[in-house]
Amino acid sequence: MQQHRQKAKDTLISGALYVVATPIGNLADISLRALAALEAADVICAEDTRVTAKLLRAYGLHVPLISLREHNEQAMAEKVIERLKAGEIVVQVSDAGTPAVCDPGARLVAAVREADLPVFSIPGASAVLCALSASGIVSDDFYFGGFLPAKKNEREKRLQELWRMSCPVIVYETPHRILDTIDELCLLPERTITLARELTKTFETFITGSATMLSGCLKNNPEQVRGEMVLIFHADEKAHHQENEAADFERLLHALAEHLPTKQATQIAMQVCDGNKKDLYNRILEIKNSN
Ligand code: SAM
Repeated sequence: MQQHRQKAKDTLISGALYVVATPIGNLADISLRALAALEAADVICAEDTRVTAKLLRAYGLHVPLISLREHNEQAMAEKVIERLKAGEIVVQVSDAGTPAVCDPGARLVAAVREADLPVFSIPGASAVLCALSASGIVSDDFYFGGFLPAKKNEREKRLQELWRMSCPVIVYETPHRILDTIDELCLLPERTITLARELTKTFETFITGSATMLSGCLKNNPEQVRGEMVLIFHADEKAHHQENEAADFERLLHALAEHLPTKQATQIAMQVCDGNKKDLYNRILEIKNSN
């Protein structure tokens, strides 16, 4: 293990910014490469220096920390660029998980890239992927919606927007808003929901069911309302199936348009769908003209 950590340390480049993922609860969830970068850093830009100091202490590391939050990110970027130009190794971390995912970091990275200096990612924990990977959801795609809005009317509007998506949708939520959000979800057409709480920690819990079931469960078990949480709205299977069918039909139209005259292509397309003949003719013509 020590050998791999040393090897990771040897490959770090002076004058580069390393964006390092840190644990989202379980201190052991950190890669050897992340530890090597933290150890080798000349300075670590941290969201809350107290939180990162705790992580460093746990691994016996002593590295200067500077605070980098959304409000000072732009100003700090100039200082980081100076340090990088002087050949220092700079590490950027947030309080938990992957920086720049609902956390500070993106503006610093953009500024460093703009200055044409190297940026490397050292991947690790991320609540969104952690929740999805252990949810049992089978899907090739998903949409990540970040935090739901705090204001009720904005949240309701956002939930309606998210409901129109047929793929699984993942959002971050907070303990003080979860009950209101679940009540709002009860008013939407039914869709299976997973609440993933306290991931990687002692009381990690996954609860899956309808919004009504979740509402009852949380109201009867106040301890389930505490901690950090992720919500997953499972795929809307019916809509997903319809989208796949529409995509298959569009591929068929492209193939027909490529190989047959418009009239003949329309006749064949009419045999596999009960659409309007004129609309199909026009669509095939449109495809032909765009090729
Ligand atoms: N950058 C982080 C990441 O990569 O996951 C996310 C930071 S965001 C400010 C914090 C939110 O992530 C929390 O409010 C919660 O929704 C989610 N989260 C973080 N840690 C979690 C955990 N251990 N269990 C469940 N959700 C978590």
